[in-house]
Amino acid sequence: MHYHILTLFPEMVEQGLDTSILGRAKANGYITTEAINIRDFSDNKHKHVDDYPYGGGAGMVMQAEPIYKAYCSVEEKILAEGRKKPRVIYMTPQGQVFNQTLAQELAKEEDLVFLCGHYEGVDERILEEIVTDMMSIGDYVLTGGELPAMVMIDAISRMVPGVLSNEVSGEFESFHDNLLEYPQYTRPVEFHGRKVPDILLSGHHANIEKWRREKSIERTLKWRPDLLEDAVLSKKEQEYLKKLMEQ
Ligand code: SAM
Repeated sequence: MHYHILTLFPEMVEQGLDTSILGRAKANGYITTEAINIRDFSDNKHKHVDDYPYGGGAGMVMQAEPIYKAYCSVEEKILAEGRKKPRVIYMTPQGQVFNQTLAQELAKEEDLVFLCGHYEGVDERILEEIVTDMMSIGDYVLTGGELPAMVMIDAISRMVPGVLSNEVSGEFESFHDNLLEYPQYTRPVEFHGRKVPDILLSGHHANIEKWRREKSIERTLKWRPDLLEDAVLSKKEQEYLKKLMEQ
């Protein structure tokens, strides 16, 4: 997976993506990231990339032309390397709210371009010209698109084969089957008088699996009941949920 981030703050993105699991994924060649400084594509002698909004109003708007040129430099490179025209995601609070299903879908792409806005956002015409997807990381307004892009890159990369050392750990966790993950425990067996549930020490894998699924259902019902509508449950699990709801 090749990520290309169009930004006014490349150092922020580069530092954020160079640590921990993503840093290792880069070092091992599972993902690449390049932050493209939109300012480098400004024709203005002061390297300005923003201007006042037509019609008045507060704040500044990022101009279309430098973004367009920055994007073209990326597209040209991708096509020259024999890959297809990429999806271009504009990070915006007005977009579709990103989730695990989208992370899985986007992880199948070879290239992804992220456009990070700043100030009041970007000239509408650049959205019409190059953007294929508008995505948000939640219903709140941030100062820029860099953190949202990094959030998405982190979640998508976990779904790219090879990035997680134990691939299973990316598959069976929260939002798999639209359930939250079951509770996890590690050593010691007892902490402040609280013991690890006996079942987890039993070594009986089928029973452990059943217990974990039930715990997942319980905590989803408690904390994110909205997820249950689309949860993937066996007949027995549906009955278990029904009983819980009747309690
Ligand atoms: N004026 C814009 C509006 O009301 O829709 C908000 C602009 S915001 C201050 C500046 C930039 O931050 C946006 O262009 C976008 O790239 C990014 N941004 C802010 N909140 C975001 C969110 N929840 N998800 C994704 N990107 C966001």
